[in-house]
Amino acid sequence: MSDRRARIGVFGGTFDPVHVGHLVAAVNARHDVGLDRVLLVVANSPWQKTGRRSITPAEDRFAVVSAAVEGVDGLEASRLEIDRGGTSYTVETLQALRDATPGAELYLIVGSDLAGEMSTWDRIDQASSMATLVVVSRAGGRGGGTAPPGWKVLDVGIPALEISSTDLRARVANGRPLDYLVPSPALRCIRERGLYAGS
Ligand code: ATP
Ligand code: MG
Repeated sequence: MSDRRARIGVFGGTFDPVHVGHLVAAVNARHDVGLDRVLLVVANSPWQKTGRRSITPAEDRFAVVSAAVEGVDGLEASRLEIDRGGTSYTVETLQALRDATPGAELYLIVGSDLAGEMSTWDRIDQASSMATLVVVSRAGGRGGGTAPPGWKVLDVGIPALEISSTDLRARVANGRPLDYLVPSPALRCIRERGLYAGS
């Protein structure tokens, strides 16, 4: 075993619900960057989304993400932001992971739609020294933004998966199926919990 530092990917999201786009992004970031683990960090209260629409309770979203990654090598659902409570700020999550795993290298994974928005994130400039940014390409014209200055950036390409949680919630509202857009164990969890009624 080499003594190279552990590499941890931090992939935050509302995951309302998690879908194959998230999972393909996570496994490809892990593969291309050589990450030991990718944490899918379920936002407790995503401050940029709350108030605009009703968000599924964090424990439900976490259960669905856990079901989605169960048995998948190197992918883990993280309750870090849920256990911290309150509003979820990426900079605090990175700081907490740095404290908890001294010596590890952190990689902040974002879809390309978010790279250009990062400058609006609270205190995010403080985080550029804590992590390398991994930008995963995202189809449908959502990309294009450039990461804020100061970040070390790696690009990861994935097959274009034009899918978003927003679209999935709309599908459910129209009575359409989520099968194969959400992994089946996660879909089972959604049904058991009666989430996104209609699925
Ligand atoms: P919503 O439509 O509610 O915003 P979303 O599908 O964008 O949901 P989020 O939880 O907001 O999902 O996103 C979490 C992370 O996953 C973000 O970094 C986002 O860019 C990325 N992501 C979401 N969908 C895809 C996709 N289809 N391909 C690649 N990355 C994605
Ligand atoms: Mg989004």
